[in-house]
This record gives sequence, C-alpha cells and structure tokens, in this order.
Amino acid sequence: MSENNNEMIERYRGNFLREVEDNVEEGEWVKMCMQCGVCSGSCPLGPHWDFGPQTLFMMIRAGKRDEVLAAEGPWMCTSCYNCIVRCPRELPITHIMHGLAHYAVRMGLAPKNQPTRKFSDLFWKNLKADGRVNELRLGISLYFMHGFVDGIKTALKKAPLGLGMVRTKRMNPMEFFGGHKVRDRKGFHRMLEKAEEIESARIEKGPRPGAE
Ligand code: SF4
Ligand code: SF4
Repeated sequence: MSENNNEMIERYRGNFLREVEDNVEEGEWVKMCMQCGVCSGSCPLGPHWDFGPQTLFMMIRAGKRDEVLAAEGPWMCTSCYNCIVRCPRELPITHIMHGLAHYAVRMGLAPKNQPTRKFSDLFWKNLKADGRVNELRLGISLYFMHGFVDGIKTALKKAPLGLGMVRTKRMNPMEFFGGHKVRDRKGFHRMLEKAEEIESARIEKGPRPGAE
C-alpha cells in the first residue's frame, strides 16, 4: 500500500465521503445523488462494467473505500456525457468518474491490468516525449503491451489494416524514426513541469478547513 494511501486512511478515519469531497474532482457533488439510476440506465457501457455511477456513488456514501478505488467502472467511462445530460440533479458525473480514476492512481489502488488505464499510461508517455502523439509508435506499444509474443501475433493480425493506412497516406512508416514534434520541446517540458508543480501544491494543501 502506498504512503499516500495510508496517510489518507489515517486522515479521514472511515469518512470516505468526506475524503472524496476533499480530494476527487467534483467529489463534493456525490452527496447530491438521489439514487434514481438514470445515469447507469443511460450509460452505453453500463451492462459491461462492475459498478456504474449510481452504484459507485452509493458505495462512496457507504464507506466502501477499497472497492470503489479498485473498481473498473471509473476507467470504463468514455466521456459520452449521456449521464450528465440526463441527471435530474445535474451532477457532473463524467468528471467525477475521471476524478475517481485519477485519485485511485494517486492512492496506488487503481486496477493494474485494466486496459484503459494501460492505454492512458502509454498515450501520456507518447505525448509527453515530443508534445505530439506519434500514432505509429503508440500503435506498436499497444500491440506489445501484453508481451513480445502477443505483440507479434497482434501485429500480424493487423498487418492488412496497417498496410491499408500506409497506402491511403493515413500513416507514415518514417514516423517510427522520429516523427513530428512541437517546435519548442524544452519549453513544452518546462510547461508540463510547472503544471505538475501547481497540481502537487494543490494536492499538498490537503483538505479544506474543518475536514480534519
Ligand atoms: S442520474 Fe444523477 S441523481 Fe440519478 S443516480 Fe445518477 S447521479 Fe444520482
Ligand atoms: S459519460 Fe461515462 S458514465 Fe456517463 S454515460 Fe457516458 S460512459 Fe457512462
């Protein structure tokens, strides 16, 4: 278990709703949920994940910390905004779902082999390197994310698709050797460092007054 996680368990001592309100993006809205089920019923992925938004919000209020932070649900959200449009209480459900996923990573409790989580790690590393997504390298890293043998099998299976993309100029094989980048890479990295610094300071500030 991460140090962050132990610190938060100690700080909130069984009040998970308060922990979410203080630390998860838009988490202060969770208590407004009236459990009508419209969000989960409207979610195109609802039948395919462990807990939909309605269930997660109920679990937060019931203090089911480990189950919520290890859930796959927050990673399954595709940001279609169906739930936000329909929620009678106007909860920013999509943002809460992404906030929960982000918080689970911070606590070291996010499901390790969840495919969306893996994809988001690969996407971020790819983008961070040069300031632009190198689609060819991203595709290759996705093929090989389950190991070398699996990568070769996937690459062979997808070869006709890749060749079609090259033929129609949707993909340039030379991108593998460099590809397009932002003009000022150093400036771009400085900007990211600053953003990380601001975010860490915001997190360091801890809970709002009166939470402890
Ligand atoms: S639609 Fe809104 S009020 Fe209804 S269960 Fe979902 S979040 Fe709660
Ligand atoms: S935004 Fe996310 S949680 Fe909401 S309906 Fe779409 S996929 Fe489901």
